[in-house]
Amino acid sequence: MKTPLEAPEEQIAEETSVKPEKPAASVIDTSRMSKGQREALELAEASRDPLDDRGSFASNLFIGRCDFGRIYPFPEQTAEDRAAGDPFLQKLETYLREHVDPDEIDRTGEIPPENFAGLAEIGAFGIKVPQQYGGLGLSQFNYGRAAVLLGSWDGNVAALVSAHQSIGVAQPLLLFGTEEQKRKYLPRVAGGEISAFALTETHAGSDPATMSLRAEPIPDGSEFILNGEKLWCTNGVKAGVLVVMARTPPKIVNGKERKQITAFIVDVDSPGLEITYRCRFMGLRALYACRAKTLSRKKARA
Ligand SMILES: Cc1cc2nc3c(=O)[nH]c(=O)nc-3n(C[C@H](O)[C@H](O)[C@H](O)COP(=O)(O)OP(=O)(O)OC[C@H]3O[C@@H](n4cnc5c(N)ncnc54)[C@H](O)[C@@H]3O)c2cc1C
Repeated sequence: MKTPLEAPEEQIAEETSVKPEKPAASVIDTSRMSKGQREALELAEASRDPLDDRGSFASNLFIGRCDFGRIYPFPEQTAEDRAAGDPFLQKLETYLREHVDPDEIDRTGEIPPENFAGLAEIGAFGIKVPQQYGGLGLSQFNYGRAAVLLGSWDGNVAALVSAHQSIGVAQPLLLFGTEEQKRKYLPRVAGGEISAFALTETHAGSDPATMSLRAEPIPDGSEFILNGEKLWCTNGVKAGVLVVMARTPPKIVNGKERKQITAFIVDVDSPGLEITYRCRFMGLRALYACRAKTLSRKKARA
């Protein structure tokens, strides 16, 4: 079965033994759509990566060709943005060189507590969090530079800092949180209270739609009860607050049932929440990933 990202036929014929197929008719029937729906679909289809004679970067990977010409020009950082990030980047580099010992971390499987405190002191846990909420207010580009630097020094520390603010509480809140939630949680996580993201379950990894952890509202709708178990939650062992993805009751949209998945902000000291196990990883011996269980947790609407 062909996918829209497949390489063009001439290229497939040239590079593999696959015989060209007849083009499949479009499976999308737009005849019953409203004008608005049809236009939206056409816009989405038109914005797909067009398959020219070289195919897309990703489709070329499947035939062993790594054509960087398809993804350049790489975005350039402006001089102004670079200058805004430089002082922090310099501080971070000095801190890593002087205070973080990757060999010891690898030997012991632990990041020393003073490194948590030291990284918090220079602002490493709130790189993109706006200054009004206690962060450094730097750009995604500067965050990326910090991630490269951290990764070049110690993979465990890189995972700690990045899981905390890219999938942990900070980023989802910046994107989707209410002002009240931002004021409550961002200063905490920017200041070094560790956060984590709990999506994966024993039977739900690449396909999160199959997750089984449920959140049911109590009758007055003011709180939810979360029931289920999560796996491989990076930072969970050290976290004070988690983003927990949960299945919530379906909504009826245009007469049809639509499944819902909702992100909840959960304080780790909430009653009923248990970090049951620290998962150990080869290669990242000091990753603080865990298995977590919520038995009958209540949480305000997120
Ligand atoms: C170091 C580490 C840290 C992690 N941290 C977190 C975290 O902080 N929070 C969290 O929620 N999770 C975390 N995870 C879990 C991670 O997100 C899952 O491992 C990932 O989503 C894949 O799920 P899975 O391991 O169940 O693999 P599966 O989904 O079982 O996939 C197994 C294999 O099958 C392939 N596959 C699956 N479905 C398809 C398909 N439809 N078509 C083709 N191939 C397919 C996959 O590519 C893969 O090769 C972490 C994992 C690791 C290793």
